[in-house]
Amino acid sequence: MRNEIFILLTIILITGCASSKIPEKELITFDDIQCAYYEKPEDLFDSVLYSKSITEYSEFLIGKKIFLDPGHGGQDRKNISPNGKVVEADINLIVAKYLTGFLEHAGAEVELSRASDETVSLEDRALLANKSKTDFFISIHHNSTEDTTRNWVNYTAAFYHANPGDYEYDYFEHSLARYIQRDLSYTLRNSGGLGSFDGTYSDYLIKPNEGFYVLREVKIPAVLIECSFFTSRLEQQRLQIEEFNKIEAWGIFKGIANFLKTGYPLLTLNQVRSVKINDNLKLIVDVDSKKNINTNSIKVLLNKDEINYIFDEKNKSLEINLNDAAPGKYELRIILSDEENMFNYPFTRQIIIK
Ligand SMILES: [Zn+2]
Repeated sequence: MRNEIFILLTIILITGCASSKIPEKELITFDDIQCAYYEKPEDLFDSVLYSKSITEYSEFLIGKKIFLDPGHGGQDRKNISPNGKVVEADINLIVAKYLTGFLEHAGAEVELSRASDETVSLEDRALLANKSKTDFFISIHHNSTEDTTRNWVNYTAAFYHANPGDYEYDYFEHSLARYIQRDLSYTLRNSGGLGSFDGTYSDYLIKPNEGFYVLREVKIPAVLIECSFFTSRLEQQRLQIEEFNKIEAWGIFKGIANFLKTGYPLLTLNQVRSVKINDNLKLIVDVDSKKNINTNSIKVLLNKDEINYIFDEKNKSLEINLNDAAPGKYELRIILSDEENMFNYPFTRQIIIK
């Protein structure tokens, strides 16, 4: 009896396999198929869920000013996909425009380095950002590989300036890069690549000790996003679809919004309580934070050297005595983080002691 069942099953399995076998000439590969796979985030395409998201994020975005920098454009239109249908300059601008729409809808103010297909030098992009009085700078790009045999390379990357430990490195910038990277790569279903564990990269990796011009020269916190590779044989197909560019913008928007929702400490010099009596100069810096401050994280730097301070945990304020500092010009910088490892918005002040 058992043998009969086994034979019967074997016959069914064999005939089953035989009937579903695809003749070899009908096999298709990713090289010749028009394959544009992407998910449509329901909180973007369902109007009720979209309104709910925007309303929830508005609480954290109202009053914020963001500078967007769509890379390339004008005379710089040389970055083109292998199928000839994607010009990097154009998709950077489309993504930036959708992102502007989402940010403004949620109550933020946006400034752009370019709003059309025009030439803007890197110098001008940095100058525009530095005089913009915006809170942070986001440069939007798409990546490429020069080696045409590597047309399978595709990942999402977010760049910050310098290496951790360098004076130029900024923790706040790195956190912002992490948030955008997480939400963008998830939205695109595109990983962060093998070069880093969280998809964020130092710009020194590409340009050692120098970094990207805009990240180095822009004085507000700045990140540069490489959404994906336009040289990828698969990615080029979805990058040419505007609906997908809109989804890219949604991924960046969610990263910015979630970063602001998490919140970060904000430092301000207390003008009333900071005093100079005779030769005693005392600065008071107030720390505005909804969360507790990690007291081990506090660093007060005077011309790059760590100096002493007193932290009043109850009132969340720092007292810095500069009595020992000789007359001269100084840069005061304060770095700290809250209990969730969110670092303060960069606080750097130029001080002249007479
Ligand atoms: Zn680019």
